[in-house]
Amino acid sequence: MSFQQIFGKLSETQAIAPGRVNLLGEHTDYNDGFVLPTAIPQHTTVQLSFSDDGEHHFYSENLQERVSILESHHTPSGFASYIFGCIEVLNKAGYTIPSLNVYVQSSVPMGSGLSSSAALEVATLRAIRQLLDLPIDDVEIAQFAQQAEIHYAGVQCGIMDQMASSLADTQHILFLDTRTLERRVLPFPNKTTIVVIDSGVPHTLATSGYNQRRAECEHAANLLGVKALRDIIDAKVTETLPEPFNRRARHVVTEDNRVLEVLQGVTPEHFGELMNASHASLRDDYEVSVPALDTLVEILQKTPGVFGARLTGAGFGGSCVALVALGEEKAIATQVLQQYNNAGYKGQILVPDVEVSDAA
Ligand code: ADP
Ligand code: MG
Repeated sequence: MSFQQIFGKLSETQAIAPGRVNLLGEHTDYNDGFVLPTAIPQHTTVQLSFSDDGEHHFYSENLQERVSILESHHTPSGFASYIFGCIEVLNKAGYTIPSLNVYVQSSVPMGSGLSSSAALEVATLRAIRQLLDLPIDDVEIAQFAQQAEIHYAGVQCGIMDQMASSLADTQHILFLDTRTLERRVLPFPNKTTIVVIDSGVPHTLATSGYNQRRAECEHAANLLGVKALRDIIDAKVTETLPEPFNRRARHVVTEDNRVLEVLQGVTPEHFGELMNASHASLRDDYEVSVPALDTLVEILQKTPGVFGARLTGAGFGGSCVALVALGEEKAIATQVLQQYNNAGYKGQILVPDVEVSDAA
C-alpha cells in the first residue's frame, strides 16, 4: 500500500537513511572509544505529510501496521515508539512539531544488527527537518535519534549507529571518536568491499551479556582510576587487573588501538589482519562469540579473496563481516554461505544486497 492509499493524499516530503555495519571497533563505543562503521546499500524511506485531525498517524509498510496517537498521549510501544520519540525529542528541544502522517518503508532487515532502528530514526528526523525547514545539522540529527532510542524506545544504545546512518556512505568508512564525536571519512583499502552474512543464530543472550560486559568495563576503569577504558593506551596496564577484568579491558584497549592503526592508512592485507585479530580478541578475551560465529569466520578467513573477517555487533549470535576483493563479493558470499550451511547452520547473505545492487 502506498502513502496515498493509506492517508488519502500525496506525501509532502520524503527522506532516506541507510543501515550500517561496523568494520572494526567492537564493544568500544560505551568505553568512549573508536569505531569504524560504513553505510550499507539497504535503507529506510520515510514519507511525511501534515495530519489534519490533530493526531499522529504512523504506518510501516514492512509490518503492515498502522498506529494513531494523540499528540499529548503517552509513548506508544513497538515501531511507533521510535517515530514518536523523534517527534518528542524535537518538541523538547524547542521545535514545535505539528501532528503528522508518517509512512515507513525499508530494505534494512529488522533485528539483524544492521541498525534498522537508527535508519528509521535518522530518516524520520531528516524528513521532519525537510518538511519544517529546521536548522539542525547531521550530527544533531544523530544525537536526537540516539535520545529517541534511549528515552522512548527504551534501548540503552551508544551513538555509533545513529552517527553512521546520519554521516556515513557506502563508499567510505567513517572513523568516529565516540567521546569527542571527532570523525574522519576514510577510503576503503585499495579495491576492497564488504560481505556481511547473518549466522542465523539469534542473539538471545545479547542483552544480558551486553549489560554484563558494560558493567565489567566500568569496574575495570574504576580499578584503573580512569574515566573510561579509552583512556588506557598501553594494553600492558590491564595485566594488573584480576580475572576476568584484565581480559575484558585488554580487548577494549587493543581494539581501540586496532582502529587507530587504520587511521595511518593500511593495505587490504593489514586491515584484514586487524579484523582477524579483533575476532580472536572478541572470542578469547571478551568472550562474546559462539561456535556458529567462529565457524562462519573461519570459513570466511579460509576463502580466497577474503582479507579478514570477524563477528560484528554485540555478539552471542548475529552477523559476521569480511573485507573482500572488490568484484568478488557475490561469488565469495555465495560460496561461504553454502559451506556454512553444509556445516548444519542456516545463514543468510545480508551484503551484498542482491536486489539493491542489481537495480543500481
Ligand atoms: P536493528 O537496529 O539491529 O535492526 P533493533 O532491535 O535495534 O534492531 O531495531 C529493530 C526495531 O526497529 C524493530 O523491531 C522495529 O520496532 C523498528 N523498525 C526498524 N525498521 C522498521 C520499519 N521499516 N518498520 C517498522 N519498524 C521498524
Ligand atoms: Mg538498533
